[in-house]
Amino acid sequence: MATHEILNQPPPLTDYNLFSSDRALGEAARREGAGWADVALADFGARLGTAETIDWGFQANHNPPVLRAFDRYGHRQDMVEFHPAWHELMALGVGAGVHAAPWEEPKPGAHVARAAAAFMLVQIESGVQCPITMTYGSVPALRRQPEIAAEWLPRIFSRRYDKQFRPAREKTGALIGMAMTEKQGGSDLRSNSTRAVPDGGGYRLTGHKWFMSAPMCDAFLVLAQAPGGLTCFFMPRWTPDGDLNAIRLQRLKDKLGNKSNASSEIELEGAWAQRIGDEGRGIPTIIEMGNYTRLDCAIGSAGIMRQAAAQAVHHAMHRSAFQRKLADQPLMTNVLADLALEAEAAMVLALRLARAYDRQDDPAETAFRRLVTPAAKYWICKRGPMLAAEAMEVLGGNGYVEESLMPRLYREAPVNSIWEGSGNIMCLDVLRALGRDGGAGEALRAELAAARGADARLDRFAAALESDLASSAGDEGAARRLVERMVLALQAALLVSGSPAPIADAFCASRLAGDWGHAFGTLPAAGGLRAIVDRASPTT
Ligand SMILES: Cc1cc2nc3c(=O)[nH]c(=O)nc-3n(C[C@H](O)[C@H](O)[C@H](O)COP(=O)(O)OP(=O)(O)OC[C@H]3O[C@@H](n4cnc5c(N)ncnc54)[C@H](O)[C@@H]3O)c2cc1C
Repeated sequence: MATHEILNQPPPLTDYNLFSSDRALGEAARREGAGWADVALADFGARLGTAETIDWGFQANHNPPVLRAFDRYGHRQDMVEFHPAWHELMALGVGAGVHAAPWEEPKPGAHVARAAAAFMLVQIESGVQCPITMTYGSVPALRRQPEIAAEWLPRIFSRRYDKQFRPAREKTGALIGMAMTEKQGGSDLRSNSTRAVPDGGGYRLTGHKWFMSAPMCDAFLVLAQAPGGLTCFFMPRWTPDGDLNAIRLQRLKDKLGNKSNASSEIELEGAWAQRIGDEGRGIPTIIEMGNYTRLDCAIGSAGIMRQAAAQAVHHAMHRSAFQRKLADQPLMTNVLADLALEAEAAMVLALRLARAYDRQDDPAETAFRRLVTPAAKYWICKRGPMLAAEAMEVLGGNGYVEESLMPRLYREAPVNSIWEGSGNIMCLDVLRALGRDGGAGEALRAELAAARGADARLDRFAAALESDLASSAGDEGAARRLVERMVLALQAALLVSGSPAPIADAFCASRLAGDWGHAFGTLPAAGGLRAIVDRASPTT
């Protein structure tokens, strides 16, 4: 510069390892049974943290997908064009097995290892997580229809991402999306109006879907009204004869965030599909997929929070104001510690929940999964936008500028709370799980009992939660309050058992004992705040 020297600007956070620099993540992955994946996760973390991969994320967002509904002669082609950076990121995620590894190579800890990988991928770019998550979640539902599973699972398990728009049998790999939401209702799926008429060995679907993300997937799970009621269907982009299926892409949504990913509105003009499960059993069939996608919403928001906190800590450790590094200014230390605490609590719960997906033959873990999937999705996703906003402020004006990652994290954060069942729907689902039988409540109690005696504040909170469970049973108006308290108790139980004392202490004091304000940065003054910040640093 002719006029000045550039001083006091932090170095970019690039060329770092998202796994080995994240102590809390490594500890949690090992604790939950994925210690065997250390090397692969460190390799993936290193690849994600390169300047090149980080740049792909920026490029994929600055060059959003474009709908090519027609070719130059007016023929329908119904395709979406993505920037090459999107394809690079997809190839990276699929190559690491984030879309299917636990199904391809089932072993103890496989869902946890995959959760840790997904947690890192979303930190660099969240848009690609959408088709990757839906593909991961589709497998149990597809297995309900053995002939579809036999044909499609080998393609789905492939780690060779294939961007070509061709019939899946001509490709090296396949991805799966889903289409449930219609104009008149997304939460209330029983209002679906798309019709399914039997036709030979399959069905023909006619109607619309108001949201169908990742329309370049090779096939979709779709809900439609068959003669026997609302039913789940498998609808490929190409028919078995090799023709383009009658799935007409009308528009792409102009979204707040999630810019690299395409979300379409579609018309189904007699699209060919196969049934999955029985007629009339559409919601229970597709909800199996929903459990996994909800797990991924929690993982995704935890990842966004981790990245936002890491960026904030990195900035504050390198930037000075008033003759001191920002991270050393007592009030900023408090803000950073509070952010780091929230992010770690989100991550440990997400990975603990992933363990329940690894132990599906254990009834207690199944009950835990049933209860905690909607609860964790509700609370973790709810915290994301607030944390992203506060972390942005740590970077000052730089944080508000698109060249930093912060605006992207901030715009991305709310969607996990909306899709796959919005906040209220999650809380109502928790009430349903609690009301069904004693298993869900017992799973919660057992988890909290394992941490009993470690912190008196947690013990008191757990006792009060016990009476909340009794008094608010079935009370819809109180459901958010109950679920929030359940999750806070679970997070505290995990932190007192597995995280360093300053983390557990600050969490229990603030989140359980009420020694906290209404904004981040209001932790009670204690000696351990700086240790919490240091632990969250992505480079030390
Ligand atoms: C970017 C993006 C991508 C998407 N991609 C897909 C996709 O690929 N496939 C797909 O099928 N859908 C997709 N969706 C749709 C999404 O799943 C729905 O928007 C969501 O389920 C909510 O449905 P809705 O929009 O119809 O809202 P509504 O169902 O009208 O809900 C509106 C609000 O009312 C609340 N509410 C509903 N019922 C109750 C109740 N009984 N008590 C209290 N509160 C209630 C909800 O929690 C919500 O806050 C996508 C959405 C977005 C934003």
